[in-house]
Amino acid sequence: MLTSIAGKTCIVTGASKGIGKGIAHVFAAQGAKVMIVARGEADAVSAVKEIVAAGGEADYCCCDMSEWSQVEAMFAKTAEVFGRVDIVCANAGIFPQVKIADMDPEDWDHVMSTNLKSTFLTVKAAIPYFEKAGEGRVVVTSSITGPVTGFPGWSHYGASKAGQLGFIKTAAMELSRYNATINAVMPGNIYTEGLQGLGQDYLDTMAASIPLKRLGTVEDIANAALFFASKEAAYITGQQIIVDGGQILPESLEAITEI
Ligand code: NAP
Repeated sequence: MLTSIAGKTCIVTGASKGIGKGIAHVFAAQGAKVMIVARGEADAVSAVKEIVAAGGEADYCCCDMSEWSQVEAMFAKTAEVFGRVDIVCANAGIFPQVKIADMDPEDWDHVMSTNLKSTFLTVKAAIPYFEKAGEGRVVVTSSITGPVTGFPGWSHYGASKAGQLGFIKTAAMELSRYNATINAVMPGNIYTEGLQGLGQDYLDTMAASIPLKRLGTVEDIANAALFFASKEAAYITGQQIIVDGGQILPESLEAITEI
């Protein structure tokens, strides 16, 4: 059993929906005080209400994670509300699909600043709080898309997710002087609200391509994030773990049908 994170303060970016909301729920259920971060207020408020109704402690802050002044202000608000910042989950991200031939330079920049620049801004803003606390944890939500696999329409997304893994190597070295670690979780296909509209046939086809024969849950990702946030992971930094039910393993269509 992992040492409890009860009483720790945790910022989860992109926590009003999907994987981030799952991380926020799991961390709050473990007794952490969670700051829900997203641009939209309504979903952030709902996420807080759900956590509080389940007996957890949470607040929210509306923030565009690609804007430095907003990120700094969000960290200041977290410290004001909860007293300190112990754990930061850099999870906010977008995945608009557009093929390279149709992609505008602005499309590229938007995905890069939301997914990759935001990761840098998150770590930069966390440093003074980790320095003060004498320790810290960052858990980044990357993806298998980009670092390992490709998917038409996601060249910019994949580059941003691979970029996060490049970033954490040097960030891990620089954060070590504050006794802080940074690691990444690389999800496969995770069942989130966003996928519900794609229809059962699409979901069944996706599940059939995964050796464990199901899409991941937000809790599958949150549990891996929880490990990186735990005391037991104190000596792991600059690393990544794939959580995908074996999705990247089949080397051909035949391999998956042989199971
Ligand atoms: P989601 O359900 O669409 O949720 C995205 C969250 O990020 C929302 O809370 C959204 O709230 C927030 N967000 C978006 N842009 C933001 C910004 N500029 N500043 C602050 N918050 C912002 O997405 P998800 O599927 O859970 O994905 C979360 C992370 O997991 C992403 O980094 C994604 O790349 C990664 N991932 C997902 C999957 C998957 O299968 N779902 C697989 C691999 C990796 P607002 O729109 O209100 O800001």
